[in-house]
Amino acid sequence: MEDTIFGKIARGEIAVERLYEDDWVVAFPDLNPQAPVHVLVIPKKPVKNILDLGPEDRELAGSVLLACAAVARKLGIDSSGVRVVLNAGSDAGQTVWHLHAHVLGGRALSWPPG
Ligand code: IMP
Repeated sequence: MEDTIFGKIARGEIAVERLYEDDWVVAFPDLNPQAPVHVLVIPKKPVKNILDLGPEDRELAGSVLLACAAVARKLGIDSSGVRVVLNAGSDAGQTVWHLHAHVLGGRALSWPPG
């Protein structure tokens, strides 16, 4: 797949506030936050979106979810509620073609999404 800004962030070529990191993922604040807490969790491996995952990516996929929970706990939104969003494809609103989970919280969030 083509390189993206998130690929550069994952490789450390663009500096961001690394709120969480392990062997599989990096988490950093969204540039254009939609809630008081809005963090992106990306896998270090370049994968376009969840539709691009294969059976070999079980550990990657689990690591993304576990990191979302770790970020929610670290930023203190675990008791009030957290929303995790994975946009996959242009109709779903995906704009950066490197898998990323949005971790949102810190205010009441409406449902359904637009
Ligand atoms: P998508 O619409 O689900 O693809 O989400 C892409 C997100 O990436 C948007 O919420 C953007 O604000 C965010 N974003 C784009 N470039 C950067 C960056 O360089 N740093 C942090 N967030 C970014």
